[in-house]
Amino acid sequence: MRDFTFDIYKKMLQEFLDFGYEFITVEEYFTDDINPEKKYLLMRHDVDRKPLNSLAMAKLESELGVRVTYYFRTIKQTFKPEIIAEIASMGHEIAYHYESLAQTDGDYEKAIKDFENNLNRLRQIYPIKNIAMHGRPTSKWDSRKLWEKYDYREYELLSEPYFDIDFSRVLYLTDASRSWDNSSINLRDKVDSAFNFNIKHTQEIIDSLKSGSFPNVVMFNIHPEHWSDNSYEWYKTFMTRSVKNYIKRKIIK
Ligand SMILES: [Zn+2]
Repeated sequence: MRDFTFDIYKKMLQEFLDFGYEFITVEEYFTDDINPEKKYLLMRHDVDRKPLNSLAMAKLESELGVRVTYYFRTIKQTFKPEIIAEIASMGHEIAYHYESLAQTDGDYEKAIKDFENNLNRLRQIYPIKNIAMHGRPTSKWDSRKLWEKYDYREYELLSEPYFDIDFSRVLYLTDASRSWDNSSINLRDKVDSAFNFNIKHTQEIIDSLKSGSFPNVVMFNIHPEHWSDNSYEWYKTFMTRSVKNYIKRKIIK
């Protein structure tokens, strides 16, 4: 069966709703009173490329009445003010998916200026409160290292999940590299998790949820560009992903 389709995504969201998970944005997680007895789902999206896919996914989510958080890169092909504004108008949170240290090849002074500049560009559209690093697989620079020299809190920001979420309590699931079972091909998007789920297909997430083994707080990081709602798009993405993952495995070895 085909995976990473809008249909299965919708089905998964509906299951979480049926199981009593409340969808909250990342901003809400850091500013609202979180009740440890209740169930919460934080859906993060990294908008790396194809912002129109994100717009389509945002509509689907909005139809289900859930609000999520979209982290936008500020590269030319992704930074589309009209699309960002339209996603925000549905009640979703917009956040900043930064890559400044990779962008400036490890020059910290240039990197912090790049960060400020792009944060301000996004803030002309939306009052950005959260950031998350884009792990550029082709760069040797890990943009999180910027915060060894500087402090994002000085920019009126609430969080960078890698530093501010306790992953011993929050289950983290990511579709990085268009696969749930991605630790072998995933260079940077890793957390020290206290949970051990071996998931290959989206259906298995639904099944694990039904077996009652999920913790109260779940954070997803999903790349909308990996998902599609028509079969030609799906097949194209599948083929290019297979080749890319093959190359990444070779590089990491
Ligand atoms: Zn990214």
